[in-house]
Amino acid sequence: MNPQFPRRVALGTMAGDAAMSFLELKNVSKSYGSGSTLVQSLVDASLSVERGNLVAVMGPSGSGKSSLLTIAGSLEEPTGGEVLINGKSLASMSYNDKARLRRRTIGYVFQDFNLLAGLTALENVALPLELDDLSPKKARIAAMNALENVGIAERAEHFPDELSGGERQRVAIARAVVGERQLLLADEPSGALDSANGDAVMKMIRAACKQGIAAVMVTHDAHLASSADRVVFLKDGRIVDQTVPPPTTPESLLAPPPIP
Ligand code: ADP
Ligand code: MG
Repeated sequence: MNPQFPRRVALGTMAGDAAMSFLELKNVSKSYGSGSTLVQSLVDASLSVERGNLVAVMGPSGSGKSSLLTIAGSLEEPTGGEVLINGKSLASMSYNDKARLRRRTIGYVFQDFNLLAGLTALENVALPLELDDLSPKKARIAAMNALENVGIAERAEHFPDELSGGERQRVAIARAVVGERQLLLADEPSGALDSANGDAVMKMIRAACKQGIAAVMVTHDAHLASSADRVVFLKDGRIVDQTVPPPTTPESLLAPPPIP
């Protein structure tokens, strides 16, 4: 076997790591409508993500990538299967527990940044902490730290429309990891960026993982996906392959998905 290419593992062999996973999807399915209008966005999808790990999700448009993230982030409920965060099933949590989880534990990054136009970069990043009842002063200090970590502290007082696309995405990432967040869910965070800014975004997500955050990132960019710890391919709502780089060569190349 060419050592440059990632080792292929059979689906299901990740089960031994399940106890350590921060995020776990067990046989998750999601369908919309019924009868002739039935759409299945996810079919029996299982995935474990450990703390400190970045999993990249790839697949054609409509294959269920965004569904996977919204269900993992408790923004939507699955029609079948189970999602566990830090060992706790989302289905067993109350409405308030889930709201707290979304406020404190999960950070979301989307392709279109979703910054509030009327707030400065600093205020955007401080907002989730203020909503979580942290004092405005403490929230601003934590937000400034987060902006410093993504190298954009000098733009703290600027409004989103005064920032470039790459800068806005950095602010969005700072907002997603500020505070004690432990799970980062990013849906094509580099989709609207050029490759230099895409690489910068990737670096920040990797840095967040180094701090112990578990991350799942949807991307169309095989180059960016190749620096993830694992790549998951989706096709018609099914996870069709998981690629694990060999432990001795973490920088190994990404193999293309198999042609069925
Ligand atoms: P991707 O992010 O890979 O492009 P999505 O997860 O957005 O794919 O969607 C997967 C499938 O589920 C698509 O066929 C899409 O049309 C369908 N879908 C997603 N959300 C809804 C919804 N709210 N109602 C009906 N169908 C939906
Ligand atoms: Mg999508």
